[in-house]
Amino acid sequence: MKFGGTSVGSAERIAQAAQLAADTAARGHQVVVVTSAMSKVTDALIAAARGATGGQWDSRLRQELFDKHTAVAEALIGDPVRRDAVIESLRQRLDRFEKLCFGLSMVHELTPRLLDAISGTGEMLAAPLLAAAIAARGRPSDAVDATEIVVTTDQFGGAEPLIEETRMKAAARLRPAIARGEIPVVTGFIGATSDGVMTTLGRGGSDYSASIIGAALEADEVWIWTDVDGVMTANPSEVPEARTLSEISYSEASELAYYGAKVLHYKTILPAFRQRIPVRILNSFNPTHPGTRVTVEGDPAARGVKAVTSIRGVIMVAISGTGMQGIPGIVAKTFDVVAAQQANVLMISQASSENNICFVLSAAEAPRVVAALRTGLEFELMRGHIEEISAEQQVAIVAAIGDRMRGTPGIAATVFGALGKAGINVIAISQGSSERNISLVVTEQEAAAAVRAIHRAFQLEKSM
Ligand code: ADP
Ligand code: ASP
Ligand code: MG
Repeated sequence: MKFGGTSVGSAERIAQAAQLAADTAARGHQVVVVTSAMSKVTDALIAAARGATGGQWDSRLRQELFDKHTAVAEALIGDPVRRDAVIESLRQRLDRFEKLCFGLSMVHELTPRLLDAISGTGEMLAAPLLAAAIAARGRPSDAVDATEIVVTTDQFGGAEPLIEETRMKAAARLRPAIARGEIPVVTGFIGATSDGVMTTLGRGGSDYSASIIGAALEADEVWIWTDVDGVMTANPSEVPEARTLSEISYSEASELAYYGAKVLHYKTILPAFRQRIPVRILNSFNPTHPGTRVTVEGDPAARGVKAVTSIRGVIMVAISGTGMQGIPGIVAKTFDVVAAQQANVLMISQASSENNICFVLSAAEAPRVVAALRTGLEFELMRGHIEEISAEQQVAIVAAIGDRMRGTPGIAATVFGALGKAGINVIAISQGSSERNISLVVTEQEAAAAVRAIHRAFQLEKSM
């Protein structure tokens, strides 16, 4: 069971999360909990690290975080010995945080490695609170740092798990506790290299932690407790009439997450899929709602397009020039450069006239990649094979997703008809050959309207 930031966002929410874990254990299940930081804490930690790097270290945040977490400890932990121990562990973790920030304010350089050491602090503060709240409900429970369990590569800021090592550590560290009837509470989001250096799995990565640990323990199911009734036909804060999808396939869940459904971190599905572990997405604010089940088949009766998603804050890079026609290798060279920058390409589209390739990157990665392309393709630019490498203003990707889009004619016509009727200009288009999604680029300002128009055109608000 993984609890997200809002699901552990206050003393009441932590009490509710603890109750859900304890109730599930009382029904005879063995439960391992993975927790996020309390909501907004990770953002604050990252802002503090950046501030300290610029020479502005302000120890007020340390005090604020201490007060916020101590108040929860006081509200939820009746046993004074345990309460003092938890408060002491909060103090130690915040001491470490403060020392790291103080160091940063001296050296003025924030490396990805240091940022991970700092940004993972929130989960380390939340886990002892949730464990104590579970223990207060009569189930023995202790916090476990994922640095002792999830072994990762050293790609700081987006580390990948090393499956075998993680499996061994998870078994050694968690199985004996589970066998004793305990509910371990593991920190989400973080891991450590085999040398023990702390890493993070990327923003929103606690979902991924849950599936990694679930897979390592060969769990029967992975449950993601969040603040909405499961995976919906669109982001409910953007499309109020969005509806819960009761069952989706692993591939649909991956596409949805990849194309911006923040409810699942985009890498969450893979570890579960490899072992065919069912995943559920549930609402900790509405726990009797059945939520969404992710399974092999999904819902065979479902229609073509199941959901519409969007990704904001992306940049479209275009490489163009009439001289590109018939010159082999430009595409390969372009994506070699992109890969060397370890940038994640969200969408690619090439005009059939061959004189334009465009692809979409996150706004954070784009400047670095464009600079590298200008160097890496210098020869082609000089020769005139390429005339221009351009990065447009911030845009959005909108995607229509569903397994059964494949072989259903007329879907593209409906998508573009809806956008045309809404007066929305489509900047680029791409359809994966899997035919599980059609994605298109629109301006950021028009993204919400585009999502709503497509949602309406397929009548996704109506259940079948
Ligand atoms: P948590 O803190 O539990 O990890 P997140 O904020 O990361 O929660 O993800 C849940 C949020 O994802 C929802 O509140 C909702 O605004 C957003 N969201 C975006 N797309 C979807 C979708 N298709 N279905 C459900 N929620 C979505
Ligand atoms: N706390 C981390 C974040 O805000 C991880 C997560 O919540 O999933 O990115
Ligand atoms: Mg999340």
